[in-house]
Amino acid sequence: MSLDSLLDRLRGRPIERDPSIYREILTRVSALEPAIAELDDTGLTSRARALRSRAQVASVADDQLPEAFALAREAARRALGQRPFDEQILAGLAIAQGKVAEMATGEGKTLAAVAPVFLRAIAGRGAHVLTFNDYLARRDAGWMGPVYERLGLSVGFVQERMSVADRQRAYGADVTYLTAKEAGFDHLRDALALEPGERVQREYYFALVDEADSILIDEARIPLVIAGDTGDALGGPERLAALVRGLVPGLDFDTDEHAHNIALTETGTARVEAALGGVSLHALENVSLHAQMRHALHAEHLLRRDVDYIVRGGKIELVDESTGRVADRRHWPDGLHAAVEAKEGVRLTPEGRILGQVTLQHFLRLYPRLAGMTATAETAAEELEAFYGLRTVAIPTHRPMVRTDEPDVVFTHQAAKRVALVAEIAAVHAAGRPILVGTASVGESEELAAALAGAAIPCEVLNARNDEAEAAIVARAGAPGAVTISTNMAGRGTDIRLGGSDESRREAVAALRGLYVIGTNRHASLRIDEQLRGRAGRQGDPGSSRFFVSLEDPLIRRYGVEQLVSARHLPPRQDGPVESRLLRAEIARAQRIVEDEGFRLRRTLFGYSDIVEKQRRAVQRWRTVVLERREPQHLLVERAEERYRSLLPVVGQRVLDEVERRLLLLAIDRCWSDHLAELREIREDSVLLAFAGRFPLAEFHRQAGESFQALEDRIEDEVVRDFERIEITPEGVDWEKEGLRGPSATWTYLVGENPFGASGLMSPAGRTGMVAAAMGAPWLVLLHGLGVLWERRRRR
Ligand code: ADP
Ligand code: MG
Repeated sequence: MSLDSLLDRLRGRPIERDPSIYREILTRVSALEPAIAELDDTGLTSRARALRSRAQVASVADDQLPEAFALAREAARRALGQRPFDEQILAGLAIAQGKVAEMATGEGKTLAAVAPVFLRAIAGRGAHVLTFNDYLARRDAGWMGPVYERLGLSVGFVQERMSVADRQRAYGADVTYLTAKEAGFDHLRDALALEPGERVQREYYFALVDEADSILIDEARIPLVIAGDTGDALGGPERLAALVRGLVPGLDFDTDEHAHNIALTETGTARVEAALGGVSLHALENVSLHAQMRHALHAEHLLRRDVDYIVRGGKIELVDESTGRVADRRHWPDGLHAAVEAKEGVRLTPEGRILGQVTLQHFLRLYPRLAGMTATAETAAEELEAFYGLRTVAIPTHRPMVRTDEPDVVFTHQAAKRVALVAEIAAVHAAGRPILVGTASVGESEELAAALAGAAIPCEVLNARNDEAEAAIVARAGAPGAVTISTNMAGRGTDIRLGGSDESRREAVAALRGLYVIGTNRHASLRIDEQLRGRAGRQGDPGSSRFFVSLEDPLIRRYGVEQLVSARHLPPRQDGPVESRLLRAEIARAQRIVEDEGFRLRRTLFGYSDIVEKQRRAVQRWRTVVLERREPQHLLVERAEERYRSLLPVVGQRVLDEVERRLLLLAIDRCWSDHLAELREIREDSVLLAFAGRFPLAEFHRQAGESFQALEDRIEDEVVRDFERIEITPEGVDWEKEGLRGPSATWTYLVGENPFGASGLMSPAGRTGMVAAAMGAPWLVLLHGLGVLWERRRRR
């Protein structure tokens, strides 16, 4: 047993570092190869089909697994001229067992996926490969398509703007490539169907999640939302935006040390109340004004343009914290988005009415079989196990990794770091070695590009919204002399070849030590740093990576590294780099603190969304029974007996059944949407409770439960009320005329995390613990949350 796996075992980390348990199967796969290689193309396909018809009778027995893998390997060799390496087969076996295969970047995960996906797809119930973005769904379906074809399988892919018919076709294929969020949006749309045939998805069976840590952890808590029709007109955000702009920090309002929370002081409250014409913000009738006011404050004083969001084409576009890229179709929740629009003076978008929502995490748990692959599962392994029951298997690289990861260079201040960065890039670039620079924000990438332009170094800047253009630029990042500046993690999934597209220049670049990756910040999670480093050193290529940090970086600031280090060790402000192992260790510690906070935050949020999800599933089960006409509901005959009995001989049973069915579906959807709105209010209130020092989750559960109890009655009441008032003839009901139809238009978006609301949901002990840890006062941590400390110990 290696030292690493021994340590993991001691720590209880669910990661297997020794894939030798799969070696025996691998041997059997290899043994079958010569015979399968002798088959001609049709022979290969019919052998795959034979396996498939056996699989559809019984589930694939273990002894068919080697054959499935051997067939897939041979199909890949013929279709792509690439025979999957043993390591890829090992990864495939881990995936087939429902685990997360950790495989370094560039090792060929796309191809490794084919064998286990084939194995699952032959059950005939649909296998989904969930990719990081739309472009990769299209690319991978096209790239692996010929392999599946030889195996007798059909392949489809889904894209954001696709018609219902195309989606149905794509989901009908044996293998479907698509993003997790597109699958989730379709799930929400299907949940509003009024006829079974309007739905596009089949029942979920198997999903393989690519870039699993990003999708299953970083993105997992993001709610996907479907909204419809326009809601109330919005008034007021503009006026409030103007008002909060004039407030003075420290006097009118205070923020906490993490810039997560903001609140008016007494002076500020008085000032605002006077400006609004002498209202009382705390009066009961002003609850919504108060909420709008808080949003205006957040928008003006905590959200930063070009860091948290950008303004483009008259719209607010959110910047994703972990990818640093513009997040597609993302909104902040409730009134916050409107408040930011008002702050920037762009047109307010109508909010619509939220008809349904689900977090990515809960959506993915709907798949009875889930597996994953990523280059960076290491620190996520525990969380993957806790939330999804997924174990992680570390797969060795095919060729030894020769990339060198240099220690961080630390500066006391930003300006010194910038000067050093430009000098470093200039020196390395002069030799022709390609450089990829990962920055933390759009603003920073542009500033750095400007500084480089000042030094006459041409570079490409990447913060495009277009995945495909981005992938093309990243792919060129390995060309001689290329300098590419991206926001962090840009190009997850893309393949950077040394020399660029021109094979003949590969050797020249390799001789220069390959790609040089520079990070200009440590990120909120070590995995993001690792992804950036992983752009270099693909498949045994030479390469190196290095991070430049300063004590003024946002991450370092937020967690007060300066306070963690005693004054004696703090270097004086200086232009050159600081040589201090202690400082480096503290920076690494700050990063771990941030990671831990993320983990705890996700767990807390899970506590909130989980109960909503349980309610959603219960309602959805009922709705599906009604939708598919599976069981008669007998609601009208019981609750509106008189009208029912008098109509029956006139219009007939069939019409009445249809009326009941449709009224129920519409009432369920309306009432569920109201229920969601109510839950949002309860949650807002529970956040306020948190500031009063009470633990909010229990309160949320209690109230959400009460509201849910009333839901079924409310639905039935509405059905009866509608039934009593509408005109029913033997031809049925004119639903348009009665105003009883589904939403005339729906749209989907992702709710950007409310950066403030979320932290308010932490238990008070959790928050104090954080602050105390950041201030280097372990006794405070002990006082305020032994559990928190213990948990942190256990994780390291
Ligand atoms: P990952 O997703 O693991 O980062 P990719 O799937 O993008 O890696 O593949 C990286 C590169 O490796 C691609 O150019 C692919 O063609 C190549 N590749 C993968 N498997 C093989 C193989 N068995 N033989 C040769 N080349 C391979
Ligand atoms: Mg990949």
